[in-house]
Formats: sequence, C-alpha cells, structure tokens
Amino acid sequence: MLTLEQVTKRFGTHTVLRDFSLTLDAGMIGCLLGPSGSGKTTVLRLIAGFETPDAGTIAIGGAPVADARRALEPHRRRVGMVFQDHALFPHLTVAENIAFGLRAWHPTERTARVTALLRLIDLDDAAHKYPHELSGGQQQRVALARALAPRPRLLLLDEPFSNLDSMLRERLAMEVRRILKHEAVTALLVTHDPFEAFAIADRLGVVANGQLAQWDTPYGLYHQPHNRFVAEFIGEGA
Ligand code: ADP
Repeated sequence: MLTLEQVTKRFGTHTVLRDFSLTLDAGMIGCLLGPSGSGKTTVLRLIAGFETPDAGTIAIGGAPVADARRALEPHRRRVGMVFQDHALFPHLTVAENIAFGLRAWHPTERTARVTALLRLIDLDDAAHKYPHELSGGQQQRVALARALAPRPRLLLLDEPFSNLDSMLRERLAMEVRRILKHEAVTALLVTHDPFEAFAIADRLGVVANGQLAQWDTPYGLYHQPHNRFVAEFIGEGA
C-alpha cells in the first residue's frame, strides 16, 4: 500500500532523510520511532504531499505519487492525517466535525457513516457536544473519526497522543489500534514514545541519521535489535 524507495530530502544544506526506504502492506499499522528532530514528521509530510523528495520515489496503492520531478497534489492522494493538536473545529459539534469531509456524500450515507463512527469511538452520546466539552482523549478520538470518515486509503498520525498523560496515552493507543483494525485502514504513525509504538504497531522501526534502522515486527525489534542505537532507544522506554 505504501512504498518509499531511497527517498532523500534536504532543507538547504541539511540532509534530513538519506536513501530512506520503507514498505507497508495494506491493513498494517506501521510506526516510526525516533528522537525529536530525526526526520519523522518530514516522512509524513512527504507522503501527504506537503514536501517533495529531492531523490527517490513514493508510491501509494502501487502508483507513484512523488519523485524528484513530479508530485501529485495532496488532496488527490486520498491520505488522511491526525496531528497532536487535534484541531477540531471549535464552533462545530462532534457529529459536524466528523461529517466535515463528507459534504459531497448523499445525506443518508453521510448520516449512517457518522453514526457508525460515533459508535466505533464510543461517543454515541456526545454527537451534539462541542469540542471544549470533551476530554483530551475524547477529542483525539473525534479527530481520528473525522480523518477516517471519507475512507482514506492511508492514514498518517503525527504524535497523536503526546498531549495526553502517560497512563491515558497507552490506553488510547490500544483503543486506536482497535479502531484502525475495525476500519481495515493502512496507517503510519510517528512517535518518540516506545511504549506507544509497541502498543499500536504491526511493524516498527527507529529513525536515525536520516534512515530507518530495522523495519521489523515489535517482537523482532525488542528481542533482536540489530544495533546499539535501536537497543538503547527501545530500552529507554521499556
Ligand atoms: P521529527 O518529526 O523527528 O521531530 P522533523 O521531521 O520535524 O523531525 O525535522 C527533522 C529536521 O528537519 C529538523 O532538524 C528540522 O529542523 C528540519 N526541518 C524540518 N522541516 C523543515 C523546513 N521546512 N525547513 C528547514 N528545516 C526543516
């Protein structure tokens, strides 16, 4: 579903990603772990189309969306995004927020989709509330439902839990995993928190020096880290 092949990205003279490669199969949840400033967000911005690669190829669903010469516009990639500062529309209700990307849908289908998502995120009774009436975790679940509503083929999540306290973070990570699996969406999440990564991912790797070290199952990464950087990074959280 998603392939990055030897992607290089520079900002001025600073090479943030160098020959960065990654494959994610349909329906899988991938996770990029790494310290702040390692280039994780840049990977997501390249996939979403907010940045273009200096070299290499990005493909979604088997079709190239960007290389150094050509780039498909972001809104034509069918990619959804969830950020840490959920940015719900404050003047819209929960149901209206979720319906936001469904304006082109038939009203009956739109209502059915919103109702199903409200049930899925366990907020049936909050349909008519406003974002400020919800807790941080509830707001983040609404942001997730809003991103999932138009059925993106790929969902990108950038530190989606980092504004929440650590107990809640891990619980929400497991809850989000349940929701993503129910929707059978392919997702790529970035975080600096190993606990979160292990709670949610089917595949994960550590971003270091502009490259992806050991793209592996959580089990493989934990039990057979390929180098010291990976072992130490995982170890900090475990
Ligand atoms: P992470 O998400 O791992 O914290 P980022 O992808 O945000 O890392 O940033 C990686 C590096 O790229 C940082 O050194 C950052 O300062 C730099 N960077 C990111 N975006 C830009 C930009 N638009 N212009 C210049 N430098 C950038």
